[in-house]
Amino acid sequence: AKFEGRNRVCRYDPAIEAEADARITLESELHRALERGELSLVYQPQVKAAGRRIAGCEVLLRWHNAKLGTVAPPRFIPALERLGLIGAVGEWILRTALHQAQLWRQRFGELQLAVNVSSVQLKDADFAATVLALLQRTGFPPQALELEVTESILMECGETTLANIDRLKHGGVQLAIDDFGTGYSSLSYLHQFPFDTLKIDRSFVQNLHHSRNRELARHIIGLGHTLGLNVVAEGVETDAQREILRELECDLLQGYLFYRPLPAGQFEAALRQQG
Ligand code: C2E
Ligand code: CA
Ligand code: CA
Ligand code: CA
Repeated sequence: AKFEGRNRVCRYDPAIEAEADARITLESELHRALERGELSLVYQPQVKAAGRRIAGCEVLLRWHNAKLGTVAPPRFIPALERLGLIGAVGEWILRTALHQAQLWRQRFGELQLAVNVSSVQLKDADFAATVLALLQRTGFPPQALELEVTESILMECGETTLANIDRLKHGGVQLAIDDFGTGYSSLSYLHQFPFDTLKIDRSFVQNLHHSRNRELARHIIGLGHTLGLNVVAEGVETDAQREILRELECDLLQGYLFYRPLPAGQFEAALRQQG
């Protein structure tokens, strides 16, 4: 059954046709998504491994469209990149989230904000200047902003990306490596780039009940700490996983066990509740 795809290639496949149509609809709808107010942000709390207190959040993009319903980020974010819209949308995400998070800091105290950054954004020569200007304008402290990049970004990393990273680091902004351990050469990126935080991928967290994976997680966390990095585990769904990660001295935990990604109002309620 594994190889049936090979035979299928030559035949007319209505599913492929439908897929192409869906992509065209998605792209034409996406063009107007921002101006129509169809994009929104949700905030997923990151809690201290010891004690569950909210230390920060990761902001995640959502798209709800009348025709298409709710579209998952892995489907529409690559489309935003293809269409050249990720720059404008990315700037809107940063502006909105920084403004929001600054209000929360004023009301509830210390709060870290993690924002995902696409490779296309980092290739824009103005990216660092834009981020630093938004920080100034909102009053949000650069040290409390963490930009999450994946290994694939660093793989295709050119002069402009390096210059952006350099300028952002000089401005005090924090840098996180996302989905750590899933790529081909995570280790080499750890010493090439000035990371502050390491995010262990969900795939390691899911299988912590196997001793091999537990040992892998132990060593990833140890490695992060040896290099002076903050270590975050994502996709924590069970008490058993939380227990093990706490034992392994992971710093922050993020996952459905604690909170789903929340609309601003609900995130604020969670902050208020913990006093
Ligand atoms: P990511 O950066 O690895 O984000 C974590 C994903 O895991 C999010 O999916 C989140 O909702 C999900 N998640 C959180 N806790 C759990 C859990 O306990 N169990 C499981 N199964 N999943 C959990 P989401 O929001 O669908 O985003 C998917 C990906 O899309 C993100 O992966 C990121 O690569 C990208 N993305 C999302 N928002 C943005 C954005 O604003 N900008 C950019 N450039 N990419 C984004
Ligand atoms: Ca992320
Ligand atoms: Ca991740
Ligand atoms: Ca991921």
